[in-house]
Amino acid sequence: MTQKITIAIDGFSSTGKSTIAKLLAKKYNYIYVDTGAMYRAVALFAKKQHFIGEDFFDVEKLISSLDSISLQFRFNENLGFAEMYLNDENVENEIRTLEISQLVSTVAAISEVRKKLVAAQQAMGKHGGIVMDGRDIGTVVFPDAELKIFMTASADQRAMRRYKELIEKGDAVTYEEILHNVQERDRVDTTREDSPLIKADDAIEIDNSELGIQEQFERICKLIDERIKG
Ligand code: C5P
Repeated sequence: MTQKITIAIDGFSSTGKSTIAKLLAKKYNYIYVDTGAMYRAVALFAKKQHFIGEDFFDVEKLISSLDSISLQFRFNENLGFAEMYLNDENVENEIRTLEISQLVSTVAAISEVRKKLVAAQQAMGKHGGIVMDGRDIGTVVFPDAELKIFMTASADQRAMRRYKELIEKGDAVTYEEILHNVQERDRVDTTREDSPLIKADDAIEIDNSELGIQEQFERICKLIDERIKG
């Protein structure tokens, strides 16, 4: 039987981590976990409960409600990927809005939130055969992952990518507000005390500002094949 390894993909927001991760999971028949979706779902929960808004955040209320949050990924055959369910409700679209992107990093900086989600992520990946993307996968969730990738790209490129995605979905957003959100999330994610976004020492960095998806995919497949062969 071929060895099933753990693949950790970390990096800045909108670097195309999930696009590559989904392709890899399909090719190797691995489970794909988008950990950003989990943090986004907690942020959506906090918003719906009125624990957080543009200028307020009741951290204690969120912490004391964490046990009532149930998160699940359910595979959608038609779409070919798993969608996020928050307390049995499909929230896949709701968690991708700019409004949630503007709240999520504040929620993700809370240690109690991270503790709950990291434990769930570790349970999902305990048998290997997993591609997980996020900010702390190679440093905190799976420090022993056989392959760690760290993806970067210029803030301009990332904002443009995100802007096009949202416009295609029909969201009324401007490029400037997306760029501001990308930069602000970079700042909060890299400076928070608990599990800040940093490249693991043994991660392989891929700057995809000038690299196409196919090229990145092939480069990572080569690395995976080397790891599988041992
Ligand atoms: O990957 P995505 O952009 O959807 O992640 C949304 C936010 O969730 C990030 O900006 C970050 O604040 C948080 N996050 C995190 N740790 C992870 C994944 C995401 O803190 N492993």
